[in-house]
Amino acid sequence: MHDRDCLHRFMFEQYPIRGHLVHLDAAWAALIEHREYPPAIRDTLGEAVAASLLLAATIKFEGVLSLQLQGDGPVHLLLAQCSSGLGVRGLARYKEGAATDAGAGSARIVDLIGAGNLTVTLETADGPQRYQGIVPIAGQRLADSLQVYFENSEQLPTRLWLHADASGVSGMLLQKLPLTDAHSGVDATAVEDAWRRVQLIGETLTPEELRTLGDAEILHRLFNEDDVRLFEPAPVYFRCRCSRERVVGMLQSLGETETRSILAERGEVEVHCDFCNRGYVFDAVDVAQLFNAGVASDSGSSVH
Ligand SMILES: [Zn+2]
Repeated sequence: MHDRDCLHRFMFEQYPIRGHLVHLDAAWAALIEHREYPPAIRDTLGEAVAASLLLAATIKFEGVLSLQLQGDGPVHLLLAQCSSGLGVRGLARYKEGAATDAGAGSARIVDLIGAGNLTVTLETADGPQRYQGIVPIAGQRLADSLQVYFENSEQLPTRLWLHADASGVSGMLLQKLPLTDAHSGVDATAVEDAWRRVQLIGETLTPEELRTLGDAEILHRLFNEDDVRLFEPAPVYFRCRCSRERVVGMLQSLGETETRSILAERGEVEVHCDFCNRGYVFDAVDVAQLFNAGVASDSGSSVH
């Protein structure tokens, strides 16, 4: 039985090479529970969710990492977000069409997203710092575009293997770290050789093995010639960050006229979160308060 809803860190003892393995089962079911995605879109979203977790796990930060695919294809937006606490959410916006009807595992990423970009953004909790990396969509699968991202950016050399289907999502990341004193006696050439070798071995891991084997088994299957230390797993879970306050902000930026016209038409304003489908309902009194903070406030004078 494979490891469920957790992320495992591992480290090669002889070389400055580390990795992560991640699996989502219940968390994946919760993430797609309210959406009926065509299989090809669902699987690409799952790969993006696994990738966002693996990228977040390699960075020390407090905040949210977003992996976004945008283009002129039938899927105009695909977004996966992972918090520093390993809570994930994601969504895809698309128009119905031939490419989106492609079966599971059969659609190329360019057929879904079209000409477009992969963007990685880091929003930290303690300020407006946003790290951003952008590369064009390339190759067959999401992992190919991520490969370009790592090659073109200042990031550490990194490889990812991703797999998603209706029942779950899995991923493996390998990353070469800078050579430090911790590996005295190992020279740069030996590290390069080892890095080349572990990538080639990583290529032999089948999607089936990634999905079904336990993490200790995967590491044994791949790297039994190496001394690899597997650390304690960290739980991963589905978590939406939507709130009534955020919806209030959204309606306020939509504007009073627009919001009141929805109210007049439907008797109330109901907004559903695109990520988790949670509904937020505003009646006439709520809407009046939204656009008249002075009246809503007990002090009557402050608009804050
Ligand atoms: Zn939500």
